[in-house]
Amino acid sequence: MGKKSFFSLIFSLLLILSCTVFSAEAVFKPGKYLGSYEGYGGPVKVEVTTSKDKIESVVIVEHKESKGISDHAIESLPKEIVANQSVAVDYVAGASKSSKAIIEATKEALKFSGVSIAAISKPVAKKAVENVILDKEAEVVVVGAGGAGLAAGVSAYENGAKSVIILEKMPIIGGNTVRAGGAYNAVNPKKQKAQGIEDSIDKHFTQTYEGGNKVANQKLVRTLVENAMDGVDWLEGLGMKWNEKIGSVVGSMWPRTNQATDPLGTGYINTLEKAFLQHGGKIYTNTKVTGIINKNGRVTGVTAVGADGKEVEFVGKKGIILASGGYAANSEMVREFLSDGVYTKDKLPAGIENTNHPGATGEVIKMALDAGADVIDMKHIQLLPMPADRFGPTINVENVIFVNKDGNRYVREDGRRDEISLATFAQKDGQYYMINDSKIIPPDRKTTSAEDLDELIRKNTVVEAATLEELAKKINVPAAALTATVKKFNESVDKKSDEFGRDIWENKIDKGPFYATLRFPALHHTMGGVKINENAEVIGKDGKAVPGLFAAGEVTGGIHGANRLGGNAIADIIVFGRIAGKNAANAK
Ligand code: ADP
Repeated sequence: MGKKSFFSLIFSLLLILSCTVFSAEAVFKPGKYLGSYEGYGGPVKVEVTTSKDKIESVVIVEHKESKGISDHAIESLPKEIVANQSVAVDYVAGASKSSKAIIEATKEALKFSGVSIAAISKPVAKKAVENVILDKEAEVVVVGAGGAGLAAGVSAYENGAKSVIILEKMPIIGGNTVRAGGAYNAVNPKKQKAQGIEDSIDKHFTQTYEGGNKVANQKLVRTLVENAMDGVDWLEGLGMKWNEKIGSVVGSMWPRTNQATDPLGTGYINTLEKAFLQHGGKIYTNTKVTGIINKNGRVTGVTAVGADGKEVEFVGKKGIILASGGYAANSEMVREFLSDGVYTKDKLPAGIENTNHPGATGEVIKMALDAGADVIDMKHIQLLPMPADRFGPTINVENVIFVNKDGNRYVREDGRRDEISLATFAQKDGQYYMINDSKIIPPDRKTTSAEDLDELIRKNTVVEAATLEELAKKINVPAAALTATVKKFNESVDKKSDEFGRDIWENKIDKGPFYATLRFPALHHTMGGVKINENAEVIGKDGKAVPGLFAAGEVTGGIHGANRLGGNAIADIIVFGRIAGKNAANAK
């Protein structure tokens, strides 16, 4: 056989094979079948009902996926599988682990029905338009439906705007805010006094400014700390729930974090979304902003690509607010701007993880530059000394220690995030264990981020042991070193001082069971971005405000300097989101 005819035979065989695969008839044993697959928070269990020739229904009977982040996948994927009679549906962006679990659990259940997986894996046509754009003009147009964008939207209405549109490129709203730990720094005299915590707005200012290496714009820092508590009260007025206890999170430097009661950042997003929609605001998801329109020196609108793939022009009669977040999910852009900040290109490990949602890619910053805006502090990025799925029992620092793989402490746990991250890079494998005891485990065994602790133990994210010796064995750390480290730490609790300069003290670590969570630094926040003034007006390359253009949240720079305090990001998005909304609503 000639070479050519051999290949054409193989080709024809492949063609016949592929046609058989895709035209395979779906034949089921009618019945109800259960399937399970590991998701983000634990197993996702589904019940699939089939008739002779059809998937009749897919019902999620049990799951522990994070509220707010996985909602869209939980709600839409079972319906899509049934509508398409196929498990080859797309993952929901931003919820890929949950999406995979739903699809794989459905496949597992369907195997029991005797159907061939090929027959229920037919390619699915691309989704039609998800939300039809009805309005292309409003007084205020906001780019991004994270915390800053939603706060700006609500505030614009409260300050007289008659119409506000928020454009969001992802299928779901919430951005990084909905995944955040939920901590909000604000001097809260009432609650702090009840816990005997001394604090002041000046102290918050000094810690923020000095904790950022005195790089930030002092006026912006002042605006942040002076308006933070009002933002807490404002959210409460909109229905947000807060924990009674004021705490401190990794890198917050002081116990002044107001902790949301709802899991992660869901309380902020749900509260703000509800308020925004009640005002009559419109949110268009799957709508990606692609350019900022500057006509004769005034920003008048943006271009965006909607769910149908067509480009649309949106007009903001009074103003455009950029609230598109940072770019820590775009490591190329991070590296592009790194120079001589805390992290230089050589200090950033290749392939470093990030804690961000996949949409944190920063293209709007580049669009702002094209539209005449200036940027600031782009070389300053933040690593969180723990990746997103490794918070463990607590994000507070009062009652924990960090030990390296030799069982030794090496850094103050209440220190700056950059100091902890850099010190961690110098340890074995660039990793550490957070160690805590059972005193901080609440009766409902929920973590500070409202995750189910037992589920984390089951997944081996958190290791539990009755004694410290047993814990050391389980995590492969020298037992003598770990017990000696804990003993020394407990003596330091009595003295309220140690060799690392730790300031925040509460309990000893002495009541079993004991817990260990493996952690390592991950890209987390980009401190640089669009330059603004204290009115959230965007500053142009000529040093003057760009008429019609406002910005708030992680897309901006100049507030946190070279290192952001843990818990200051949520304060930032609420404070500056409100200011941007107010000033855009009143722009001439
Ligand atoms: P912040 O904390 O500053 O509010 P978030 O990350 O919470 O930032 O929210 C920013 C939102 O902006 C995200 O939901 C993100 O998907 C959205 N976004 C980013 N770029 C664009 C874009 N080009 N068009 C529309 N939305 C965008």
